[in-house]
Amino acid sequence: MKTALVTGASRGIGKAIAEKLKADNYKVLGTATSDSGVDTLNSNGIEGHLLDLNSKDSIENFWSKLESDNKTISVLVNNAGITRDNIILRMSDEEWSDIMNVHLYGTFQLSKRALKMMLKNKWGRIINISSASASIGNRGQSNYAAAKAGVEAFTKSLAKEVGKRDITINAVAPGFISTDMTENNTGVNEDYLVKEIPLGRFGKPEEVASLISFMCSDGASYITGQTIHINGGLYM
Ligand code: NAP
Repeated sequence: MKTALVTGASRGIGKAIAEKLKADNYKVLGTATSDSGVDTLNSNGIEGHLLDLNSKDSIENFWSKLESDNKTISVLVNNAGITRDNIILRMSDEEWSDIMNVHLYGTFQLSKRALKMMLKNKWGRIINISSASASIGNRGQSNYAAAKAGVEAFTKSLAKEVGKRDITINAVAPGFISTDMTENNTGVNEDYLVKEIPLGRFGKPEEVASLISFMCSDGASYITGQTIHINGGLYM
């Protein structure tokens, strides 16, 4: 049984991905930033771990524990994410750096560490969750859009570095998906946005999870370095 690691598996898209990969017969490790989130993961049959990607110490502790437990990660889904929206003239250094840390530095750190295992095994899948914002931009999200565009460029570069070892690296870029992230974002007017989406609705986390499941499967073995969009036609 292969082991998959999904960051930010306590809620939203990550939760749906972890559940889908578990149904696909992976041993799934999931992360949360709180003890209660870890407990919830464990009670749902996902092995829960504490991880705050905004903290170098937390990343180090998390990975040391995986190594001391002799885990071998075959599939990594860099899903954890946050928003710190603000128009550029009001954006603080912290709003900028929080986003860069969680999305870019976190993806770099976990990919580098998991790749050591994948290179040894000559097989692996890394899927980085990007966003339609990386392609179309979004008012108030210069930090988030820049980080996600960085994640996509990082994806292509890694794909070139490790392709010969049967390791594929891809990004998945959702449009608007119904989760706490879109619910809590006061700048998001769902009725207005839905008019811009040809399929006429926000997506569901399970719909993103289906795509991730395919990207991990043998059927996707010749796809690497790509950004796959899933957005109801919002961006095409
Ligand atoms: P969500 O419902 O807000 O869940 C975020 C997840 O990330 C939670 O599990 C959370 O853990 C975790 N997390 C937050 N801060 C973290 C940190 N500092 N370190 C590690 N983990 C952290 O978000 P979502 O909508 O599912 O988004 C998942 C991914 O999809 C993100 O990368 C997001 O940018 C991307 N995305 C979402 C949408 C959308 O419309 N929802 C669209 C495009 C892209 P806790 O539960 O412990 O807080």
